[in-house]
Amino acid sequence: MSHTSSFTGPKRTRIAPSPTGIAHVGTAWMSMFDLALARQSGGQFLIRIEDTDRTRFVEDAEAKIYEAFEWLGIEYDEGGQKGGPYAPYKQSERLDVYQKYAQELIAQGDAYYCFCSAERLTQMRNDQQKAGLLPKYDRLCCGLSSDDVQQKLKANEPHVIRLKVPDVGVISWEDLIRGHVEFESSAVDDQVLMKSDGFPTYHLAVVVDDHLMKITHLLRGEEWISSTPKHILLYRALGWEMPFLAHMPLIRNADKSKLSKRKNDVSILSYRDRGYLPEALLNFIALLGWSHPEGKEIFSLSEFLDVMSLDRIQKTGPVFDTKKLDWMNGIYIRNLSVEDLKHRLEPFLPSDFPRERLDHILPLILERLVTLKDVEGLTSFFFRPITVDRDELLKKSSLEEVESQLKVTREVLTPEASWQSHEALEESIRQLQEKNNWKKSQYFMMLRIAVTGQQATPPLFETMRVIGREEVLKRLTIHFH
Ligand code: GLU
Repeated sequence: MSHTSSFTGPKRTRIAPSPTGIAHVGTAWMSMFDLALARQSGGQFLIRIEDTDRTRFVEDAEAKIYEAFEWLGIEYDEGGQKGGPYAPYKQSERLDVYQKYAQELIAQGDAYYCFCSAERLTQMRNDQQKAGLLPKYDRLCCGLSSDDVQQKLKANEPHVIRLKVPDVGVISWEDLIRGHVEFESSAVDDQVLMKSDGFPTYHLAVVVDDHLMKITHLLRGEEWISSTPKHILLYRALGWEMPFLAHMPLIRNADKSKLSKRKNDVSILSYRDRGYLPEALLNFIALLGWSHPEGKEIFSLSEFLDVMSLDRIQKTGPVFDTKKLDWMNGIYIRNLSVEDLKHRLEPFLPSDFPRERLDHILPLILERLVTLKDVEGLTSFFFRPITVDRDELLKKSSLEEVESQLKVTREVLTPEASWQSHEALEESIRQLQEKNNWKKSQYFMMLRIAVTGQQATPPLFETMRVIGREEVLKRLTIHFH
């Protein structure tokens, strides 16, 4: 196999998610690299659903994958609703194809039937473990005569089909990310290819489909490296050309363990529901294990698709640090046009939000929006009744003083004239504070808490104007007794 630089044709890539639960951020991550290879070379990127493990199958998982891709704006050329020249793109609809190749492998002597019971296999593994041996099928059934096999098949004995791995030799490949990789053939197990339920295992199905779907470049997670020798043997046995292989680094939790849902939110759609922008999430995951050639941190998907190259992928597993995503999301939010932002905020605005005041409220909270979902918490004091913590209000001053401060403040704020602009409002309040010689920090904080119920808010006078004269006067009328 030659190196990628010698490959000049259109590249065909694929993502092959298993519908076993949520749509995983790792799937989107890998897809971006697949898509870039395809787009840069005038090739195609396809989605194939690998649903052959019926024990892990989750009903709506496939729909969620397409929904997630749609939200992210990752476009694929074949698969899903799109179909394509190599349809179906779902493995459970291709069972006869795998059956055909399994039979071919048996006929050539590269695979064999195995009738061993689950109990026997467990016993065997336990014994091997006790003896300190590598757990591997002991090939009991490889020695069956063809008569024995025929008899057992006729009697409908449950069986699987196994790959016959050569006893000696080295299996190697030039990985586009990791360079030369090799395994001793003797360390490779006689992998099950067809299960007793008539479904293929991942190993047979992935090889057959990647070949039939003319995949030229195969990107997948590092966890599949030890499976690759089995796949290479299958390509050889079937007389097929190997695609180029690239094993991507494992994404990690902060503690360096493999990215998991126990320690991180790994569901694409949950980022949507929590108010992240798809552009920000894509930008964030693009930088997992890859860096922009100019060191840029903020770039669009289309820029990524142009500049991505596999040689900038690192081998060590990147850490999934969502603090960085928060930072990016804020940047993307502030880069949106007002109209676009309003449109995206809509699903996050509570039903009692005064939409007609959004134009006034938005500029006041824009700097503090990390996610779209923050909008409710950051704005509720504008339109909902507030609760004022009495202790906070009286923290820096006596009850008497605060009561008198509130009273005169109300007097000053009663005339409409004070409310013409937030500058006018500020002017009146500052004069009042100076005239009475109130301590600035105490008075302004007291006022802020009385008006908003909070200590940290957008600029006070602009906030007061948006809340409105009548409501502010009401809030300044606090009954302490
Ligand atoms: N179905 C496998 C998975 O869910 C695909 C691995 C591969 O890309 O070969 O990860």
